[in-house]
Amino acid sequence: MAAFDLLSSLSVSGSQVSGPGFLKCSRKGCEAAAVVEVCWNNPQVHAPERLKSWLACGEHEAFLEDFLKSRGFWRLTRPLGSAGLMGGGEA
Ligand SMILES: [Zn+2]
Repeated sequence: MAAFDLLSSLSVSGSQVSGPGFLKCSRKGCEAAAVVEVCWNNPQVHAPERLKSWLACGEHEAFLEDFLKSRGFWRLTRPLGSAGLMGGGEA
């Protein structure tokens, strides 16, 4: 109940184009809808079991993956879908 109320109030006050169901690519300046979730972890900052995630459109999936792989941060890439975003929130 509380979560539903929170979502309702957000959608009213936000007046943003992006509503529930539209997840935008994390690449700066990209307005495309994300199709995958690129999960990563910085061992120097995050606990090993913690996963951060970036959203990527088809065009930037490889870009973000390569960026993370070059730093050894990349863990997995999975399609956005029924599973939804992982919890965990902001770090
Ligand atoms: Zn993009």
